[in-house]
Amino acid sequence: MREFSYRRPDTVADAANMAAASGPARFIAGGTNLLDLMKLDIETPETVIDITRLPLDNIEETDEGGLKIGALVTNSDLAADTRIRRQYAVLSRALLAGASGQLRNKATTAGNLLQRTRCYYFYNPALPCNKREPGSGCGALEGHNRIHAILGGSESCIATHPSDMAVAMMALAADIEVLSSDGSSRHIPIAGFYRLPGDTPHIETVLQPSDLITSIRLPPPLEGRHLYRKVRDRASYAFALTSVAAIIHLDGESIQNARLAFGGLAPMPWRNSTVEQALVGERPSKRLWEKAADILLDQAVGHGENDFKILLARRTLAGVLEEACGGEN
Ligand code: SF4
Repeated sequence: MREFSYRRPDTVADAANMAAASGPARFIAGGTNLLDLMKLDIETPETVIDITRLPLDNIEETDEGGLKIGALVTNSDLAADTRIRRQYAVLSRALLAGASGQLRNKATTAGNLLQRTRCYYFYNPALPCNKREPGSGCGALEGHNRIHAILGGSESCIATHPSDMAVAMMALAADIEVLSSDGSSRHIPIAGFYRLPGDTPHIETVLQPSDLITSIRLPPPLEGRHLYRKVRDRASYAFALTSVAAIIHLDGESIQNARLAFGGLAPMPWRNSTVEQALVGERPSKRLWEKAADILLDQAVGHGENDFKILLARRTLAGVLEEACGGEN
């Protein structure tokens, strides 16, 4: 691990100013991903800004009828919050599907959004990786890619985003509140927060280096059945091969509203509104599930070891829709 300076601001504004005034800097809260990356010299900040004492650990109701979640609310506290469990169950379930209890006790809401891929090549400095070292190549494209993307990848990178929480946030259309070093605050819809890899896979979000996430806002609760299904190699402490966050509202015998987001398939939590539109107004049926999967996977590309994900995503989506509409799959 390289040497770094350690700073601990007392206010949110000081934190953003410190980041702007420093050389390469990183904010640290739970540190559940950043510390691993620093030990491996994959992240090499000159300054680490400890934000754990900032007053960003509350969950408040908003005037619009939604919730404002402080950036430092831990994953455990968020999953256990009664309002989240009752009105945003898809989020609570996604959180509980992620990591271990110990990690959830440390990991924060903002940190979870910003965690980095678990691509094997990214974590091994002896191997080529365009995300870690731009221009060095992508070991996964022709190598081991069982956990990699079938949607949204590029010739530079096919890494997947590892978060479960962010998949539920995508289904809920959350808004991310960011403070810049000039003191201005802005809201970024989560749909526009992540960047696809293209030829710059090392740039993963639209954040500027000194931007500080201060909160995440959820819109008013959506009526319907909330499900999060995660398919993985082990029952605990494993990342998703595929996952589906679903909020499905049936009106009589037809689907009135559908929200879907997918994990483990793409470099960012994946939402395709065309899939949702294809479901609305229709009666549940296996044929409809097939149609939804055809739309979702129209552009899907396997790279060898991960070819199985195309069929896995199809079956997982069908199972979730069947369950959401009253079946038992
Ligand atoms: Fe690196 Fe992305 Fe290729 Fe993995 S998939 S080796 S993270 S460039």
